Amino acid sequence: MSIMGDSFDEECDYLFKAVLIGDSAVGKSNLLSRFAKDQFQLDSKPTIGVEFAYRNIRVGDKLIKAQIWDTAGQERFRAITSSYYRGALGALLVYDITRRATFENLRKWLYELREYGSSDMVIVLVGNKSDLANSAREVNVEDGQSLAQLEGLSFLETSAKDNLNVEEAFFQMITKIHEIMSQKSL
Ligand code: GDP
Repeated sequence: MSIMGDSFDEECDYLFKAVLIGDSAVGKSNLLSRFAKDQFQLDSKPTIGVEFAYRNIRVGDKLIKAQIWDTAGQERFRAITSSYYRGALGALLVYDITRRATFENLRKWLYELREYGSSDMVIVLVGNKSDLANSAREVNVEDGQSLAQLEGLSFLETSAKDNLNVEEAFFQMITKIHEIMSQKSL
């Protein structure tokens, strides 16, 4: 898999939507802008108040365009609606390893993802702010692993600040979505 510097509107073989979700201030926007670098085109849909970004990724001979949605802070006002999740094939479900409450709230976000997203949605559980693990950790790695195992999710700890595992988290999701899409189009 390689990242292309393709232009925003280059013809692609697959286009899919994925969402970022989780409590306020866990680092969703920072993860997205890390993943974005300068190859991303940030855009917004003011009517529904979300932000989204595209990135082109080449897998084998196929060009995949991932459209990734960010809540633009709306979760703060409990204003995420079903349209945010609709049609999404993947999600990064994010908590902050330095705030236990953001981990406890994952159940609520998982419920919403499963209620409104596609039935075979690929969900990657992301424990962000791993750069603060030594000084301020409130959620053990094992807690993240157990939840992921229980719920059938992939799991990674990331640091948007230090750019650790950010690419990996998005790529895990994108690769799995691609696998599902290719099986469906066989
Ligand atoms: P969002 O509300 O989930 O989109 O969170 P933001 O991306 O706006 O980040 C919330 C706060 O956490 C900001 O002050 C960020 O600078 C900080 N932050 C985000 N990611 C990290 C990280 O990986 N490590 C540290 N130490 N701080 C982070």
